[in-house]
Amino acid sequence: MAQLSDDCFAFGGPMMSVDEAVRVIADRVARIADVETIALAAADGRILAGDVAAPLPLPPFTNSAVDGYAVASSDIPKTDARAFPLSGRVQAGASAQTAIRGGEAMRIFTGAPMPEGADTVFMQEDVSLEDGKVVLPAGLKPGANVRPAGEDVPLGHVALKAGQRLRPQDVALAAAFGLTELAVVRRLRVAVFSTGDELVSPGGHRASPQLFDSNRFMLMAMLRRLGCDVSDLGILRDERAALASALRSVAGAHDLILTTGGVSTGEEDHVKAGVEAVGKLVLWRMAIKPGRPVAMGVINGTPFIGLPGNPVASFVTFVHVVRPTVLALMGARQEPLVPMPVRAAFAYKKKIARREYVRVNLRKGHDGALEAVKFPREGAGLLSSLVDTDGLVELSEQVTLVEPGQSVGFLSYASLM
Ligand code: AMP
Ligand code: MG
Repeated sequence: MAQLSDDCFAFGGPMMSVDEAVRVIADRVARIADVETIALAAADGRILAGDVAAPLPLPPFTNSAVDGYAVASSDIPKTDARAFPLSGRVQAGASAQTAIRGGEAMRIFTGAPMPEGADTVFMQEDVSLEDGKVVLPAGLKPGANVRPAGEDVPLGHVALKAGQRLRPQDVALAAAFGLTELAVVRRLRVAVFSTGDELVSPGGHRASPQLFDSNRFMLMAMLRRLGCDVSDLGILRDERAALASALRSVAGAHDLILTTGGVSTGEEDHVKAGVEAVGKLVLWRMAIKPGRPVAMGVINGTPFIGLPGNPVASFVTFVHVVRPTVLALMGARQEPLVPMPVRAAFAYKKKIARREYVRVNLRKGHDGALEAVKFPREGAGLLSSLVDTDGLVELSEQVTLVEPGQSVGFLSYASLM
């Protein structure tokens, strides 16, 4: 399990910027040590534990990029087309029976190894056949339509790096190397609780002043997209002792404990006291909207994160605090979020010195350029605002005003997970 020191999330300043939060996490959270070997077909989304150097070049042998006719470049007609006798035929998966001799061409197909003596291929579309000979036009570049061995990946090149969150194309590269297994970091075990007397699990009986717990399902889904094994631990009452004993019982058996709700500073926000009874806790007052304090702590060496209860605040702080923590625990590259420039189709005023996220939809403007249309309402409790939009416009700390037509940075929801 992860073993962090009690004070690893200590922070001196009154307000923490989003970038500072990510930096503190990346610097102070160490990767879990456990590595496992898994079948290639199960590797998508996992974190590569070590570098993979190419055990063979790709392509492994020099081959034709097209269906056509192979010749020696010294034979390429310079000024006029010329007829060449055919000296054989080589298909993908076979080797040429003979080397090519001067003045001859060989029929060849895409992916077939180049016959000895040939280094150029004429595309079949560019030639004609006459009396069993192939007529090759003048002017082709020497080496055309040939894929040299190693042009894709040279032998020994570190083609996949430790910390890579494996994507389908990464798995394909490992397969092209002939690998059947990969060493990956074991899945993180994350305990998830909701907190609040007003919450009931879907399926339970909801009294009239209660609501169904939605955050837990959102957070569990986001964690699973990051490759975590999630323990769904239900809802904790707003009560210090119950919180403390539940948290103590899961620390040690998990790599991360995540809660939502109860971390503001109201007298019914008991998470802080619950964590302090069994571990160390600091409230990070982050300069982010939607947000509110995020609780960071350590319980028996296990990192703890308490997110706010409002669904949109919970979502946004997950992205900036939980996601980097999970990546750091897995030893994954931090994968910085890169907003794409789009045109604002809205006006917006904001406070200086805090990062804001505006929920938007994308549409094509009159000139075909992408425009961001702001969701009409702003409350951090509006779950439908996340459901009915495409992503978030990120407004940096220095911005105070957005005017229609201005370029703003857009993050799709898919890019955040
Ligand atoms: P809190 O952070 O506990 O003060 O909660 C802030 C708001 O978010 C309150 O309106 C809560 O009812 C709501 N809330 C807290 N936890 C959840 C949850 N798990 N699912 C949906 N809403 C929640
Ligand atoms: Mg609450």
